[in-house]
Amino acid sequence: MHQATSAPPISYYDYIIIGGGTAGCPLATTLSQKATVLILERGGSPYGNPNITDLAAFGKALSDLSPSSPSQRFISEEGVINARARVLGGGSCLNAGFYTRADSQYVRAAGWDGRLVNESYGWVEKMVAFEPPILRWQAAVRDGLLEAGVSPYNGFTYDHLLGTKVGGTIFDGDGRRHTAADLLRFANPKGLTVMLHATVHKVLFRIKGKKRPLAHGVVFRDASGIKHGAYLNSGPKNEIIISAGALGSPQLLMLSGIGPLDHLKAHNISMVLDQPLVGQGMSDNPMNAIFVPSPSPVEVSLIQVVGITQFGSYIEAASGEPFVAMPAEKDFGMFSPKIGQLSTLPPKQRTPEALSQAIESMKALDPAVFRARQRVDVVGAVLQGYCDDNLALSWGCQVGRVVDADYRVVGVDGLRVVDGSTFIYSPGTNPQATVMMLGRYMGVKIMQERVKGGKVE
Ligand SMILES: Cc1cc2nc3c(=O)[nH]c(=O)nc-3n(C[C@H](O)[C@H](O)[C@H](O)COP(=O)(O)OP(=O)(O)OC[C@H]3O[C@@H](n4cnc5c(N)ncnc54)[C@H](O)[C@@H]3O)c2cc1C
Repeated sequence: MHQATSAPPISYYDYIIIGGGTAGCPLATTLSQKATVLILERGGSPYGNPNITDLAAFGKALSDLSPSSPSQRFISEEGVINARARVLGGGSCLNAGFYTRADSQYVRAAGWDGRLVNESYGWVEKMVAFEPPILRWQAAVRDGLLEAGVSPYNGFTYDHLLGTKVGGTIFDGDGRRHTAADLLRFANPKGLTVMLHATVHKVLFRIKGKKRPLAHGVVFRDASGIKHGAYLNSGPKNEIIISAGALGSPQLLMLSGIGPLDHLKAHNISMVLDQPLVGQGMSDNPMNAIFVPSPSPVEVSLIQVVGITQFGSYIEAASGEPFVAMPAEKDFGMFSPKIGQLSTLPPKQRTPEALSQAIESMKALDPAVFRARQRVDVVGAVLQGYCDDNLALSWGCQVGRVVDADYRVVGVDGLRVVDGSTFIYSPGTNPQATVMMLGRYMGVKIMQERVKGGKVE
């Protein structure tokens, strides 16, 4: 890993991957086996940051609003406060860690090769997925779901099956997070260069003399604002791959001149391709949070048990004080206003003033009072038809609309998008397993095209 300030003004690679996130890391690891690969990641390293690595610190990175935070807050048009990653490893450095495969129907509908999908999941799971220890709270959730009829009980499995199950987690037995960045350890060091704090501003196209625009390089800026160029080595198989996430990928296409013409014009961007569907189809999965006050402390757990119901809803649970309040540190966790959650108000009323007011009044509360108050919040929220975001998903470069079945950007050459932005809907209860799988899967496919049937390690 290098800081982009040390990057040469111009460099050449076989593949340039924009975004070292949940999909970008497994993709780069795979491509580096037989080609030279550059990852350009706008954030820093996740290593040595306990807010990322420690399970008990969950939520802290999300409440860090500093410019160097691994998490960047944004607000949707509906007013829902949300977060996107800004760190090597991407969303896998911020998320709740739940690891579960896609619904097999989703795999079929996506037209993926089922055998390679299973191999790719297996490759990811060997390195970053674990069986969680089921303690009292999660065991109670499991038993409660079964009692409520979310059956059968499928035990511990990564598979998406109707009923109740224990899923995987990217936290190991010591509560340490294993992110997509860990997959880079299996890369070919001679083939891979990782640039940190390298923000890509534009993909460059050759247009003259070409049937279609051909992507051939990128412009990125380092932490001091200095511009660098990275270009593809000559060769018909070399490519630029955007893995900048649900917001970053469509944004970068537009900054590079691929998007709805009117929108590009409004921002003074020269058009490369009028593509009205870039950035369209964004959606969040709605989430209703219900707080269950406990008279005695319960273990800290992130998502471990899930109920997959006949009617299409998923029921998940987390526990322990970090999720609501950490009185000792006067800090607040997963569902706190510190990370933009404020269940008593509809999204549009969750202004910065309302959030800081809520933080101040929660700080002043005695923990016992706080537990009692949660019950009131839940009732109020449900009565208002409260609907919150799941902080996780949206799409903007969908397959069949912006990219084709091989994840190539339609209408140009030498450019693909591989990440969660290509999903049409949620591939199961939670997406990260499938995002990592897709990185590996597409890495293998691209390498097979390159070496014509050769084996990919
Ligand atoms: C709070 C939270 C909790 C979640 N919980 C779960 C969970 O428990 N289980 C689960 O399965 N999923 C969960 N998710 C969802 C999951 O983490 C994401 O769907 C997944 O990480 C998205 O992967 P991605 O590769 O599409 O994007 P990302 O992982 O976000 O990667 C995109 C990368 O591109 C970089 N980038 C963007 N623009 C540029 C640019 N211009 N130049 C250079 N780099 C750029 C970003 O910094 C980032 O590192 C959660 C998400 C959040 C935010």
